[in-house]
Amino acid sequence: MSTVRRCAALGVVAATLMLGASEARAYCRTTTCDPERRECTRDAKGCAVAGTPLYWASECVSFVVHQAGSARHGIDATLFASEVSAAFQRWLEVDCGGGRTPKLTVQNLGPVECGRVEYNQRGGNANIFMFRDEEWPYVGGEDALGLTTIRFDPKSGRIYDVDVEINGASGIPISVGKPREGAADLASILTHEVGHFLGLSHTVAENATMRPAYEIGRDLTKLGDDDRAGICEALAPDRVTETQSCAPRHGFSSRCGGTKGGCSVARPGAGSGSELALGALAIALGAARARRRARRDAEPTRSAGIAGRPSSRAVRRTAD
Ligand SMILES: [Zn+2]
Repeated sequence: MSTVRRCAALGVVAATLMLGASEARAYCRTTTCDPERRECTRDAKGCAVAGTPLYWASECVSFVVHQAGSARHGIDATLFASEVSAAFQRWLEVDCGGGRTPKLTVQNLGPVECGRVEYNQRGGNANIFMFRDEEWPYVGGEDALGLTTIRFDPKSGRIYDVDVEINGASGIPISVGKPREGAADLASILTHEVGHFLGLSHTVAENATMRPAYEIGRDLTKLGDDDRAGICEALAPDRVTETQSCAPRHGFSSRCGGTKGGCSVARPGAGSGSELALGALAIALGAARARRRARRDAEPTRSAGIAGRPSSRAVRRTAD
C-alpha cells in the first residue's frame, strides 16, 4: 500500500516538471474502484480518485501472442509479436526527465496455443495478446477495436494478469506498417491497449494516445505529453519494485487452464487477491465512453454491452 502511494506522489512531481506549471495533467490511472459496485469519486478530468491505482510490482513483465495471429488480416504470430514489442517500447523509452525512463522492461515469451482471456489461481498464466477474427464476443461492443482485461489485487492494486483482445471481426481492415486507406492501424491500436496494460486509463487530453476513440487514419504511435506524463507516474524511474522476475503470476503457462509448459517461476501469493480488467479502444462514433462491468463468478463470461459505448470493461473476482 505504502509503495503505491509513494509511486503516485513521485509521479505527480515528474508530471508537473514535464508539462510545465501552466498545463494541468489530464491522464488517468486505472484504480481498484469499481463503478458498478460503488460510486467512484472522479475529478474534473473524469479520473477516478477513489481506490488505489493499479501497478506492476515487478521490474519486468512478459507477454505472449496467440499462435494463430490473424489469418483474416494476414498477420502471423511473428509479425504480431514484433508489433506488440514495438508498442511496449514506445511507452518504455519515454524520457521521464534527465534521460531516465519508466522502470519496467518487457520480455516476449513467444507464441502460445492458448487464445483465451483467463487467469488461473492454481496454475500458470500468460499475458496474452490475441485477435478475435471470427466473432467479437462483446454484444453491443462491436465498435471496439481492442479490449484489455486486467486482473489485480483489490486491496493493493497490484496487477496479476493482463490479456488483450484485438477485434478482427469488425469488418474494418487492419493494416500493419504503411497506413492503408480506410484501414485501422494495428500499431496504433496496440499502443493504446498497451497503455492500459501498463495501468493507464482514458484521458480527455488532445492528441493523446489514451483518448478513448480512434479515428481511422490517425496515428496513435506518437505518444502525447499527457501520455508521457502518465507513464512516468505509473512506472516512475525511481519507483520501488518487489521483484525483477518477468514471470507471470504463479509461473508461465502457454496452455489454457494453466498447465505448466516451459519455465515456471511461481511467486507465492500473499493474502487474498482479486482481479479486474479494463480498457478498449473504440472506433470514433461520437459516443465512445468508458464502461465497466463487474463479475462475481469464478470463470470469465462474455458480457453484453451497450451499443456505441464499449470502450472499456472491468472484471473483478476474488482470486489470488
Ligand atoms: Zn482504451
